Amino acid sequence: MTPGQRSTTTAGQVRAHDGSQVLRTASLRVTKPRLAVLAAVAEHPHASTAVVIAAAREELPDVSHQAVYDTLHTLTSAGILRRIQPSGSVARYETRVGDNHHHLVCRACHSIVDVDCVVGESTCLTPSHDHGFRVDEADVTFWGLCPSCSAKLEADEHDAGDRPPAAHE
Ligand SMILES: [Zn+2]
Ligand SMILES: [Zn+2]
Repeated sequence: MTPGQRSTTTAGQVRAHDGSQVLRTASLRVTKPRLAVLAAVAEHPHASTAVVIAAAREELPDVSHQAVYDTLHTLTSAGILRRIQPSGSVARYETRVGDNHHHLVCRACHSIVDVDCVVGESTCLTPSHDHGFRVDEADVTFWGLCPSCSAKLEADEHDAGDRPPAAHE
């Protein structure tokens, strides 16, 4: 175990310069598209494919859409990236893997925030009835409004309440 590996802030995180190490650990060949995609996702947690393509191209201008798609698939299959797809959203990718964390999703602006959950000790791993399954992971999506969207909504409601009904007599 390397120092810091147990720290919650670095668990599963891939810093750009760690990319080749991460790939080697997963027995994957270190290629430029893989490094670019890893760095892009590390920099933009919960990035959509479109965001990953744009960010990867900043580093590797001639990387093709197909290469990014294939790389996302390879890295997800290898467990280096986690793919989430909240209902109504496109697939998103993140470098936080294997820590059973959950997501808060804003219904209005579709922003996504991580919520920590401790593997093995969390009540979310205890379904009301496990139907005989040996549960090792829970994938919880909390839906609501993010602080800025709910502030906006409150302001709108406040405005609507303050304004007297339009008088056109
Ligand atoms: Zn929002
Ligand atoms: Zn996440």
